[in-house]
Amino acid sequence: MAITDHVDFNGFMEGVKRRNPHQPEFVQAVQEVAEDIFAFIQDKEEYHEQQILRRIAEPDRVVSFRVCWEDDNGNIRVQRGYRVQNNNAIGPYKGGIRFHPSVNESVLKFLAFEQTFKNALTGLPMGGGKGGSNFNPKGKSVREIMRFCQSFMTELYRHIGADVDVPAGDIGVGGREIGYMFGQYKRITNQFTVVLTGKGLEYGGSLIRPEATGYGAVYFLANMLAVKDMTLEGKTAVISGSGNVATHAAEKVVHLGGKPVTLSDSAGFIHDPEGLTLEKIDWVKKHKTYRRGRIADYCDEFKGATYHEGKTPWGVACDVALPCATQNELLGDDARTLVANGCIGVSEGANMPTNLEGVHVFKDARILFAPGKAANAGGVAVSGLEMSQNSERRSWSETELQQMLKDIMSGIHSNCLTYGEMGGGYVDYVKGANIAGFKKVADAMLAFGVV
Ligand code: GLU
Repeated sequence: MAITDHVDFNGFMEGVKRRNPHQPEFVQAVQEVAEDIFAFIQDKEEYHEQQILRRIAEPDRVVSFRVCWEDDNGNIRVQRGYRVQNNNAIGPYKGGIRFHPSVNESVLKFLAFEQTFKNALTGLPMGGGKGGSNFNPKGKSVREIMRFCQSFMTELYRHIGADVDVPAGDIGVGGREIGYMFGQYKRITNQFTVVLTGKGLEYGGSLIRPEATGYGAVYFLANMLAVKDMTLEGKTAVISGSGNVATHAAEKVVHLGGKPVTLSDSAGFIHDPEGLTLEKIDWVKKHKTYRRGRIADYCDEFKGATYHEGKTPWGVACDVALPCATQNELLGDDARTLVANGCIGVSEGANMPTNLEGVHVFKDARILFAPGKAANAGGVAVSGLEMSQNSERRSWSETELQQMLKDIMSGIHSNCLTYGEMGGGYVDYVKGANIAGFKKVADAMLAFGVV
């Protein structure tokens, strides 16, 4: 009998909490997965014996480093940089870099843990990692951002590589920042390799990478609706965020005949009862990217829209919701409000935007609920396709890539059905995604023995 037989779910979670003090986001992410995995491995002795979940929940390594840079006034500034390499059982570590003042070890460990399952779900050979810094790009000049990116890469370069760890963008890191970091990597190593994804098209980037996360989250939603013989046609969608993921999710909702009515930023949300059109969404993209503007300005531009300062959009009645801003932006009460207002489907464009209480509310209400690790996997999937194109030294067409993205999202959806069908027509997508992602990584780990 394995010595772990007596370690039940509560015992396991106590251990996770004890070993990771002051890391609530990481503990939350592990708990969400462990709730499903404990039931799944109950009769699977090998996973217990080999302590697979315990090992996945302990990152391979956490690298933390100092990042010094000089601001435009000549002041020396010091930030903390990280790379969390969670698990490389099925491929090189892969995951974004986040620049945001909220970044700390807990946030990056939760993201790297989630990424491990998400990447496995894509079906592509990618392990899980995440990195970033507490650097706040807001209000910084372009030169300051460039100097910061260069300094960040001056340390990060020794920990990454095409077959080691391939970072990409995330909150606060888009094409511009990837360009500065790629330039610095190339300058230090004198190598033009697939060390980052989300690159510009001129130097090895892939078509549809910017669109992929938001589009993918909507494809996933459409897949869930299809099981119920429904489509997005005529559905009202509440969306949070106004960055890359949110605007592309809104765009795809419009393409599929739905009506997005909200977007938000950290200061508040806008409600446009007429619905956001493709022209309005384009205006938001430009306003956020080039002018670094606030979403509140939308109401000056488009009459009929209202701005709600300091609020999140979950109180607006809708058929479907897409949280596309950040972690823990949708709480238990928000989930109850959405359900009470008749929301039938939620697809997470962000990583862990719904807190544990909210997840349980959606599950208890048996609505369609897609966790981020399944719903937002389209972004990293197209990153994986960028790696393949770079290795082959060729570029696929937009049509080919759009089809591949759709197929990958449908594949993830089918995987979730395999492990998430609960009978009576209800699919627990959280459970489906957790088990499908876990099984792939776990079986590879079993093959390697105790390492
Ligand atoms: N940051 C994105 C995510 O959360 C993309 C990561 C990547 O492309 O490597 O999945």
